[in-house]
Amino acid sequence: MHIAWFKRDLRVWDNEAFTNACKSKNVMPLYIIEPELWKEEDLSYRQYAFLTECLKDLDKELKKIGQKLIIRTGDALEIFNDINTHYGIEEIWSHQETWNFWTFNRDLRLKKWFNSKNIKWNETIQNGVIRGLKDRDGWSKEWQKRMYADEHMPPKKIKGHTFSSETIPTPQQLGLKNDGIEVFQKGGRIEGLKLLESFLFQRGKNYSKEMSSPLSSHKSSSRLSTHIAFGTLSIKEIIQKTDIRKKDIQKLPKEERHNWPRSISTFSSRLRWHCHFIQKLEDEPEIEFRNMHSSYNNLRNDSDFDFFLESWKKGLTGYPMVDACMRSLIKTGWLNFRMRAMLMSFASYHLWLPWQKTSKYLASLFTDYEPGIHYAQSQMQSGTTGINAIRIYNPIKQGIDHDPDGIFIKKWVPELRKIPKKNVHNPWESIEYSKEYIPPIVDEIEARKLAASKIYKLRKDKLHKIESKKIYLKHGSRKSRIKKISKHDKKKKNQIQKNLF
Ligand SMILES: Cc1cc2nc3c(=O)[nH]c(=O)nc-3n(C[C@H](O)[C@H](O)[C@H](O)COP(=O)(O)OP(=O)(O)OC[C@H]3O[C@@H](n4cnc5c(N)ncnc54)[C@H](O)[C@@H]3O)c2cc1C
Repeated sequence: MHIAWFKRDLRVWDNEAFTNACKSKNVMPLYIIEPELWKEEDLSYRQYAFLTECLKDLDKELKKIGQKLIIRTGDALEIFNDINTHYGIEEIWSHQETWNFWTFNRDLRLKKWFNSKNIKWNETIQNGVIRGLKDRDGWSKEWQKRMYADEHMPPKKIKGHTFSSETIPTPQQLGLKNDGIEVFQKGGRIEGLKLLESFLFQRGKNYSKEMSSPLSSHKSSSRLSTHIAFGTLSIKEIIQKTDIRKKDIQKLPKEERHNWPRSISTFSSRLRWHCHFIQKLEDEPEIEFRNMHSSYNNLRNDSDFDFFLESWKKGLTGYPMVDACMRSLIKTGWLNFRMRAMLMSFASYHLWLPWQKTSKYLASLFTDYEPGIHYAQSQMQSGTTGINAIRIYNPIKQGIDHDPDGIFIKKWVPELRKIPKKNVHNPWESIEYSKEYIPPIVDEIEARKLAASKIYKLRKDKLHKIESKKIYLKHGSRKSRIKKISKHDKKKKNQIQKNLF
């Protein structure tokens, strides 16, 4: 018997592992719910709620072609052992998974056991992440090749016995409590396809202009991240559909194009970043815990840890934009890129908290939690990669720039509703309103300057540069700058863009 083991690829369309497993005469489509994984601090109720909907949807899709989804709950090795005892497993098909350290170790354990039982484990590729990569040279070319390959068709009919399944455990049975979420994102492929369609043809029109404001990004960002993270859509099919749309937009008369060309091109680059970031975790799984650059080890050990951490976690820092973002994230499970970056930057620089403590909490709040993107971005926004420019967001400026009238702030921080818009970003500065809200837990300017001085001092060290060079070779993007460089500056033609990613 062959097993189609679904992991973060909850779809039948463009799923190489599933399509190949179905070539066998007896296939079991299997999903394993692993209670030990759900005990990890980066996993949460909101993610499980989304998963449950995806599993129900996948079950419906499978039934249309002759099989239901077999659900088993428990330790993966014990479950495979049980299935092997009852049915005899010849081959297992799954995608190559780059996820958290727990799943990485689970896969190592399983590999050993499959080998000992002569069970062939075929791991197919579902994105642009390359296993066993030596350095980043040539990565883009390979990514391109994979993203423009043909999509994998599901079979018309699945052959095999009828296997018994279990019901999906409730969150409570796994020990997952509601973590404050009130607005759930809907799971399942149909929802994912609807989002893609509405983004490419309506919502995405002003994406490039509106993506940074928490007011507009909710609607004008694609909101596909959770679907990509759970695999209800493949990144390849999103890229190919985006490309078709791009070409159609180019054919439109100029007056009908509006902001579409820029928006679609900005979106395409984000889709490329998705795999670029996950590649970092694939190449170095330890970056979930360890600074990418060792110069930053022991740097953030002098913070007023507990008080700052708790205030930040609850959205009680006294900085309206930070608090509004955190409180909205708790209730909705989503935030745009810039506001995620600001939350992380504020915790790491102004509050001087180690990202290892804050990133796990944020991971549990993101329904779209994707470890490869998450830890690389957390480190990037904390200045510990050694290869990226230091960016310390000023939360007051971010508020003024992206929520000038305080609409977003007032929605999520009701204590500030009566304060006029000109005072809403810094109520502590007016005698009249300073008592209306909690005072800021740190002085913005002083905290920012202090953090910058500590970080830049480290960066000047010769040894810092030597290690950074090695990190760049391993993880840095090799995206060519050729297009952006003037024709007259031929010498620079082969220069490499180092610091964007
Ligand atoms: C500290 C921090 C943590 C983050 N953690 C996650 C995470 O756990 N999961 C996650 O999917 N994204 C994460 N991001 C990246 C980004 O914020 C989200 O992908 C984006 O906000 C999701 O919304 P969207 O689908 O509407 O994105 P869109 O703007 O519509 O982008 C489309 C897709 O491109 C990819 N993408 C977009 N921005 C980035 C980026 N900066 N880096 C890599 N890929 C990107 C995502 O797959 C996204 O779904 C994080 C960013 C920061 C600063």
